[in-house]
Amino acid sequence: MSSYLSKRFLDMAVYAPGEQPQDRSYIKLNTNESPYPPSPGVLAALNEAAVSKLNLYPDPDTREASAAISGSFGLRPENVILGNGSDELLAFCFQAFCDKGVPAVYADITYGFYKVYARINCVDSRVIPLDGAFRLVAEDYFGAGGTIFIANPNSPTGCAVSLADIEAIVRENPKNVVVIDEAYAAFGPDSAAPLIGKYGNLLVVHTMSKSKSLAGARLAYALACPALISDLNAMKFSFNPYNVGRLSLAAAAAAIKDAEYYEGCVKKIIRSREFLSSELVKRGFFVLPSMSNFIFARPGFIGGEEYYLGLKERGILIRHFTHERIRDFVRITVGTEEQMKKLLSVTDDMRRTF
Ligand code: PMP
Repeated sequence: MSSYLSKRFLDMAVYAPGEQPQDRSYIKLNTNESPYPPSPGVLAALNEAAVSKLNLYPDPDTREASAAISGSFGLRPENVILGNGSDELLAFCFQAFCDKGVPAVYADITYGFYKVYARINCVDSRVIPLDGAFRLVAEDYFGAGGTIFIANPNSPTGCAVSLADIEAIVRENPKNVVVIDEAYAAFGPDSAAPLIGKYGNLLVVHTMSKSKSLAGARLAYALACPALISDLNAMKFSFNPYNVGRLSLAAAAAAIKDAEYYEGCVKKIIRSREFLSSELVKRGFFVLPSMSNFIFARPGFIGGEEYYLGLKERGILIRHFTHERIRDFVRITVGTEEQMKKLLSVTDDMRRTF
């Protein structure tokens, strides 16, 4: 840290993303990427003609991609804004909708960035604990008195909230924005997107990093009524009007057209998830029911951190979190069935030595 850093950030804890090691190859099950490549349409769109236009700025209004995305939800381009990953869109939400006296409201165990965004924007947080089974209790959020952020399904737990409960939370907070972060919704729960026409305080964020195999493109979008989207555009145009690059915009439009390919990938991942969950249960793990492309589990025969380190030594990366409530758990991204079998056989080797 330099002596020039603004005093407001001296005690700030920064977000620590999952490891992206470049030194050796691992079976990478730590950041919930898809094990499958982008669709053929995406590969075709990123051609020489597209690359040769990189001397020109991208369309700041993202017209082609916005039309493709909004159309796929039966919405209009005014209902959508694209972001450089959902992290950027979530950052815009904190800037636009949290304030002095309007705290960010979120669960104790959820996506770690919410706490960091509250801190960097100097707004308060109201943290609501999940229940003993790591479930979100909808009533706890009624009249919450702040901007609500709910990851559905949640990370790192993988648990989902029903659409009826989401709607109740939106309905019971008419004075505040409710942000539903649906990074993993393609793997399970009903999306809240169909409720957008009904509620002016609902904002749904989707990423293309997970179910659309585009983590490297940094692409996401938010869906909401035109007034909320225009608030987010005010943040975007005051920060980085060209927030999504040309190649990523081309990839987004192509990915939306290849819905069938991605549905196939999602089906394979769900099959692999169910296989992994049941095999881990057979081995004595406690496994939370997952509606996502990862599972959250407690090994039991060994601590969460030891299991993570043991797997890492043997070439498999998973994620361990140090939060007191979940330090015995690990989060494992669901990969191909072959990757899951490798994880299980390495786990069996470890169980023999402990
Ligand atoms: N929300 C949740 C719940 C996540 O787990 C992640 C992935 N780290 C994100 C948002 C951000 O994803 P991205 O920026 O790649 O869209």
